[in-house]
Amino acid sequence: IISVSGVTKKFGATQALNDVNVRVDRGEVVVLLGLSGSGKSTLLRHLNGLEFPTSGTVEVLGENVPALGPKGLRALRGRVGMIFQQFELVPSLTALENVLTGGLGALSGPRLGLWAYPRAMKVTALTHLDRVGLLDRAYHRADQLSGGQQQRVAIARALMQSPEILLADEPVASLDPESSNQVMALIREIAADDGLTVVCSLHQVDIALDWGDRIVGLRHGEVVLDTPATGLSKAEVMEIYGRVTTSTA
Ligand code: ATP
Ligand code: MG
Repeated sequence: IISVSGVTKKFGATQALNDVNVRVDRGEVVVLLGLSGSGKSTLLRHLNGLEFPTSGTVEVLGENVPALGPKGLRALRGRVGMIFQQFELVPSLTALENVLTGGLGALSGPRLGLWAYPRAMKVTALTHLDRVGLLDRAYHRADQLSGGQQQRVAIARALMQSPEILLADEPVASLDPESSNQVMALIREIAADDGLTVVCSLHQVDIALDWGDRIVGLRHGEVVLDTPATGLSKAEVMEIYGRVTTSTA
């Protein structure tokens, strides 16, 4: 469902990715593990056409991503949802309105009032809020929700387009351990129920080992590890990262 081959990405003199090869099959839950600056975000952003490779190929859902025009990219992004470390909600809008913006697709542009959305879309948005356990927060402003709740709203927003792939860029990096566990469990649950393919970047080894089916380790823009999470110990991961990785670094 995802095939990245020989991808190199340069930002001026910085080489963010160096000959990266990664394949992901439909339904897999893959963790991109690496320290700050290892290229996790850059790689994820190649998968929905927010970045294009300097060289190499990126195929997602059968599409040659760098070759897509604006219309093709929009269609792709409807099939590939994304959530971020900082949630990226509109703080002044309610949870429900934030979720609804995820359903706008090509209509996106000016922010619409609640009245402007079709009734069926509102029902769908409320259903997704219910799935993430926040139906009772639908009319609360995003900036009045806890971090964990905001990330769950962002997940509901990503679900509005019924994506086939979910990209998560350090989804729990700004959350406390309890909210982190909740959010990670929720992503797995939804992935299983909807048959979603998930690629999630993390820097915490413990969460990665517990949570992923497969771990792809990045270091300085290179893939240094690609293995099923079962049978991999924390010590082995640390070894690969040259003993610089700790559970929180
Ligand atoms: P973090 O854990 O801090 O989020 P990361 O693994 O996501 O790190 P990236 O954000 O992918 O790392 O960055 C990889 C490298 O590419 C870094 O050296 C970074 O400074 C550089 N880089 C990323 N995006 C850009 C950009 N738009 N312009 C210039 N350099 C960039
Ligand atoms: Mg990043």
